[in-house]
Amino acid sequence: MLIADLRSDTVTRPTPEMFEAMQVAGLGDDVLGDDPTVIELERLAAKLVGKEAAVFVPSGTMGNQMAIATHTKPGDAIIVEEEAHVIFYEVGAPAVFANVLTWTLPSDRGVMDPAEMRRRITKRNIHTPGTTLICIEDTHNRAGGTVIPLDVLAEYRKVGDEFGIKIHADGARIFNAAVAQGVHVSEITKHVDTVNFCLSKGLRAPVGSILAGPAEFIDAARFWRKRLGGGMRQAGILAACGIISLTKMVDRLAEDHARARRLALELGQLPGISCDPDANPTNLVMLNTEKLAADWAAALHAKGVWAMPAAANRLRLVTHADFTDEHLEFALGVFRSVVI
Ligand SMILES: *Cc1c(COP(=O)(O)O)cnc(C)c1O
Repeated sequence: MLIADLRSDTVTRPTPEMFEAMQVAGLGDDVLGDDPTVIELERLAAKLVGKEAAVFVPSGTMGNQMAIATHTKPGDAIIVEEEAHVIFYEVGAPAVFANVLTWTLPSDRGVMDPAEMRRRITKRNIHTPGTTLICIEDTHNRAGGTVIPLDVLAEYRKVGDEFGIKIHADGARIFNAAVAQGVHVSEITKHVDTVNFCLSKGLRAPVGSILAGPAEFIDAARFWRKRLGGGMRQAGILAACGIISLTKMVDRLAEDHARARRLALELGQLPGISCDPDANPTNLVMLNTEKLAADWAAALHAKGVWAMPAAANRLRLVTHADFTDEHLEFALGVFRSVVI
């Protein structure tokens, strides 16, 4: 039976080319700093996003938390969107590792209002913690893969510069944001000090993320990687896949977006489901379900379509390279046949 796995783009398997690259990759010991393939990936990644340096990390979660801990001191405040991955899905890590407190802001589909941001900033004095970092998320996961417009990013940069506050982008799916807007990724990352992005999602690598930023910052972040247990040895095996991700897998993300749009348009017509395709501009589709999303997920799963609830009445579908046109037609048919 066909399985349409729409749980996440993390489920993509390495391509045959990646398996081949793993076999022939030059290897060293990356903790000792001499794995040539890791070094190549880090250079390539830094260049792509227009930063001085980059560090290869096991997960996006680790990259984000290394960034927060490196940018701040214990007791500082950071500004974060209220449903951001760094606070919603990283098990309280900013409180545990960086020891910061979080000012959470509401948003319009993941896009915070720069004016509100300005109002929320506190200056360090005998009463209040100093706000030292703004974290943004692009694309925004819980909002449905939404994109922060470039002019809003420029506004964030103005706020950062005005108050001397750094900006970190959780760009787990930043290449989806770039492709959706038809711009080079550096048009997004030029507005932020540091960026974290996943190789292991739509870009199809088996494992790994990149944290990029100024050279001095990345040197300091390497201490956090080691401290968190993220030092890897012959990591070139994984980095070899990441190089293919960055050189060959970016442009094809447009296909995932097109399939996501078909899902949004067609499934939104079904009884008991609504969906605004324009609110899901990349590879995530949030379906609003009248019945419980968990009931939908269970009924779909029994027929070979796997998806996860994002909230009680919200079912999340994620398209990716291993979800082909054949899977798309199959999934649409299953949705039509399910009775809740
Ligand atoms: C997936 C994701 C991450 C990091 O995930 P890992 O599973 O730790 O690699 C971070 N932020 C966002 C928005 C994500 O979607």
